[in-house]
Amino acid sequence: MLRSALKSLFNILYPKTCVVCKNALKEGSFGDVICSQCYSKIKKNRPPLCKICGKPLRDRRLKAVCSRCQKEHILFDRALSVYAYEGPIKELIHQFKYKGKGYLDKILARLLEDFIKQHKDTFLYFDVIMPLPLHKSRMREREFNQAQVLARHINSDLGLAFSCENLKRIRPTTSQTELGGDERRKNIRDCFKLKNADQVKGKNILLVDDVLTTGATCSEAAGVLKEAGAKAVFVITLAN
Ligand SMILES: [Zn+2]
Ligand SMILES: [Zn+2]
Repeated sequence: MLRSALKSLFNILYPKTCVVCKNALKEGSFGDVICSQCYSKIKKNRPPLCKICGKPLRDRRLKAVCSRCQKEHILFDRALSVYAYEGPIKELIHQFKYKGKGYLDKILARLLEDFIKQHKDTFLYFDVIMPLPLHKSRMREREFNQAQVLARHINSDLGLAFSCENLKRIRPTTSQTELGGDERRKNIRDCFKLKNADQVKGKNILLVDDVLTTGATCSEAAGVLKEAGAKAVFVITLAN
């Protein structure tokens, strides 16, 4: 009783605000961090989607594969990104990664888990879940690997073999955000190394990351896994 009274007094003095629009949050807002208006603006990727990179197909004359994937040799089998990388989800991911708001892991994981629950059968197909690794210099800067945090959350339901030590990023890469497609691929070449090929041989692997941009990084990682004998490599990200 006293506790709840103190809690409501605290909430009056220090009202919780939405991390996206900064308006005061009403009781029961989604995950206690985002208001219902901002939540409703999170845009799901809806079909038709490219069968390889998972990006929405803008040109409806293309049946299944986007023009970029037709031109390029993508090394993963398929990428699934649940949301469009814009608006509130972009802001949530940005604050989670760069603004020290590690507590946003739960809501971001929940947004992924909602999707996984709806497609449970697809996910039964995988043996190993593998977060995309960061180079140790980037890890020091950020103090956590966002992909690893998300992968751990979603794996509490999936129960796959969790692998976060096998694939290593052996070379730091310059930030991909300012680079064009060709430069990204050059920038990322040979930056991964696998320690133990036996752990991936014949396995269906689910790579996890927060955002898929051009897919060059995931493609390079998938190439290393395939070379070691992985049967299939799929990618899941929150957004693209
Ligand atoms: Zn809001
Ligand atoms: Zn594509």
